[in-house]
Amino acid sequence: MDTVTTRLCIVGGGPAGMMAGLLFARAGIDVTVLEKHADFLRDFRGDTIHPSTLDLMDELGFTERFRALPQRRVENFSGVVNGRSYRVADFSRLPTRNRFLSFMPQWDFLDFLAGEAVRYPAFRLIRRTEAQDLIETEGGIAGVRAAGPGGSVEIRSDLVLCADGRHSRMRERAGFAPRVFGAPIDVLWFRLPRRDGDPEAAAGRFGPGRILITLDRGDEWQCAYVVPKGGDAALRAQGLPAFRTLVAEIAPFLADRTGAIADWDDVKLLTVTVDRLERWHRPGLLCIGDAAHAMSPVGGVGINLAIQDAVAAANLLTGPLRDGRLVEADLARVQARRMFPVRVTQALQRMIQSRVIAASLAADAPFRAPLALRLLDALPRLQVLPARMIGMGVRPEHVRAPLRA
Ligand SMILES: Cc1cc2nc3c(=O)[nH]c(=O)nc-3n(C[C@H](O)[C@H](O)[C@H](O)COP(=O)(O)OP(=O)(O)OC[C@H]3O[C@@H](n4cnc5c(N)ncnc54)[C@H](O)[C@@H]3O)c2cc1C
Repeated sequence: MDTVTTRLCIVGGGPAGMMAGLLFARAGIDVTVLEKHADFLRDFRGDTIHPSTLDLMDELGFTERFRALPQRRVENFSGVVNGRSYRVADFSRLPTRNRFLSFMPQWDFLDFLAGEAVRYPAFRLIRRTEAQDLIETEGGIAGVRAAGPGGSVEIRSDLVLCADGRHSRMRERAGFAPRVFGAPIDVLWFRLPRRDGDPEAAAGRFGPGRILITLDRGDEWQCAYVVPKGGDAALRAQGLPAFRTLVAEIAPFLADRTGAIADWDDVKLLTVTVDRLERWHRPGLLCIGDAAHAMSPVGGVGINLAIQDAVAAANLLTGPLRDGRLVEADLARVQARRMFPVRVTQALQRMIQSRVIAASLAADAPFRAPLALRLLDALPRLQVLPARMIGMGVRPEHVRAPLRA
C-alpha cells in the first residue's frame, strides 16, 4: 500500500474542498485533496456564484482571470404570481463591490479553482481516489485510507477536512449523524432553450399546486420544478405530455419548446434535505460545507456557505497547522464561527419552504401574491434585504490567511 504524508488531507473536491485546498496551499500548508471522480463534470449542481464569493475572487487577485470565464450576470430576481411579476431582490443595491450574481456551470468554477491552486507548490489534487475510512490513533484521526486507480493508498495528515458533501462517508466513519429537518419539497431540474424576447432574467413562478424557477444560462433556461416531498413518482406516472403541459401553463412563454424535454432522463430529481451536524469536529478531523450542513435550495446559497466555511477554516487553522500546534479547540473555533450563519440561513429557508412554497403547492385555486412580495415590489429600497441575505449571507468571510507560496 502506498503512503502519502501531508499536513492537511481534504476529502472531496467540491466548492468547499477546492476553495479550502487553494487557500491553505496559498498560505504554504502542504495540502492533498482527494476527489473520487476523474473530473468536475456533474450537471445540475449549484451554478450560482454569489457577490460574497465574487468579492473573494477579487481579494485573491483573480478578478481578471475569473471575469474572462463564460458567465451570465443577474442583477435582480422576481416572483411571478398569476402572470404578474413582482421584483423581490435587487443585487445592484448591495453595499459591496460585486453587485450581481454570476451563473456559471459548477464544473467551470471548480476547474478555475483547481487551475489557480496548482500554481502553489504546496497543492496536490488526486483525482479518481475515494476516501474509504479514517485512520484512527489514540491521539485522534491521523489520516484516511483511500482507493485509487493504482490500488489502496494511506494519506497520513495532521488534519482531515471532510468536504465530501451531503452524503459524507467520512462524517459517518467519524461517528457523526446530522440532525435532519424535514423539507416539504423536492425539485426536478431540466433545461429548455432560451430565445430572444423571453421575459425576465431569473424568476420564480407561483401558481396553484406548482412552482417553476427559471434561471438564465445564456442560450438555455435552467428550470427547477418544485413538487411536494415524494411527489416525483406521481408526476412521472402521469406521463411526459402531462408534465410538459404543467410547465407550459405556469410559464406560457415556454409552451412552444417544452418538447425539448424529450425523455424523463432529461429531468433530474434533487431530493431536498436540510440537515446539520451539532458537532463538526473530533481531534484531527473537521467537517465543512454540505458535509456539515446540507442547505435547502431556497436562495441557492449552498455553494456560498460551503465556500465561506472554507475561508473561515483557512483563516483560523493556517497558523496552528503551520506551527504544528493544532488542537481540537482550534477546530471548535471554526464551528463556532460558522454555526450562526448556518442556523440563521436554515431557519429562514425552512420558514420560506413552509409558509410560501408549501402553501403554494397546497393551493388548488389561484391565490393573491403574498404581502411580502407586494411590499417588496412596491418599495424598491427594501429589495436590498433579500439580495443581501442571498448574495452576501450572514457574516461574510474575508481572506485573512497569508500568501506564502
Ligand atoms: C441538484 C442540485 C442543485 C443545486 N443548486 C444549487 C444552487 O443553485 N445554488 C447553490 O448555491 N447551491 C446549490 N446546490 C447545493 C450545492 O451544490 C452544494 O451546497 C455545494 O456544492 C456544497 O459544496 P461541498 O463542497 O460542500 O459539497 P459537494 O459539492 O457535494 O462536493 C463534494 C465532493 O466530494 C466528492 N466526494 C464525495 N465522497 C468522497 C470520497 N469518499 N472521497 C473522495 N471524494 C469524495 C464528490 O465527488 C464531490 O466532488 C444544489 C445541489 C444540487 C444537488
